Amino acid sequence: MVGVATEQAPRGLSQATLHLTIRRRYNFIRVASEENGMPQVVEETKNSIRNLPIQPKLRSLLEKAAEVAGVDTVLVTSGGQPPYPGKPRIGSTRHDNGWAADLKLIRNGQVVSFTDEAERAVFEAFVAAAAAHGATGIGAGVDYMGPDTIHVGFGTSPTDHSKVVWGAGGKAATAPAWLRAAAQKGWSGAVSTTATSVAPVTSGARGSYIVVARDGLRLRGGPGVEFGVITTLKEGTVLTVLDLHGAGNAWARVDLEGDGLVDGFVFSAFLEPAGDQEHEASKA
Ligand SMILES: [Zn+2]
Repeated sequence: MVGVATEQAPRGLSQATLHLTIRRRYNFIRVASEENGMPQVVEETKNSIRNLPIQPKLRSLLEKAAEVAGVDTVLVTSGGQPPYPGKPRIGSTRHDNGWAADLKLIRNGQVVSFTDEAERAVFEAFVAAAAAHGATGIGAGVDYMGPDTIHVGFGTSPTDHSKVVWGAGGKAATAPAWLRAAAQKGWSGAVSTTATSVAPVTSGARGSYIVVARDGLRLRGGPGVEFGVITTLKEGTVLTVLDLHGAGNAWARVDLEGDGLVDGFVFSAFLEPAGDQEHEASKA
């Protein structure tokens, strides 16, 4: 099993129990988050075989990625384990000594799922930021750990610095396309490690933004893919964000003419603040 990134769901913990735990936890976390305004990394691993603390370096990386992605809480459901021949341990060596975590993202009180088109943007921002901050091993897949859990960490040993993504079976070939693209974006240095360029539209944001979707961005009649497409806005279109809607504030209500009237809704992950010098420079 050494070197193979196999994972198992935490034992003795049903989905229902887990969700109840998350909800209960969240009531406490929300208060803490509101106090200091920073995302929380919570290790809820006592029902997992891998119940040792994660490394401070990993915790710090997860906090930064959470801030960039607008995540309130990173819920670690599987943490560290003693290295072989220590027990208890399971699966690959990646979790040895707390150098990896299997985790869920909580935003606005909801566990985010990467099978949801809008919520996947949160995962994409999180993964890109995690990669930009030094994570080198990232795994996810519906057939792997379900639609809302990802593995984030480092190599299979302290000397393994290879950058890899994987999906079901611990195989690179099964890595979801969005995961591969997001990790690559982080590793390539294409993303800023500050919150502004990955998740630029924050709650209550109002102002001038630019469309950065290469193939254009759909303007819809409402905050969701179930609403009809009015038109497609070209890359480079400058618009005014009036306010944000939907789970994870994924949808921006926009004004195209600058006349204060609402023209429709766009997916906010593909907007960047207009006149962002750093972004303009990086595109050159
Ligand atoms: Zn893992």
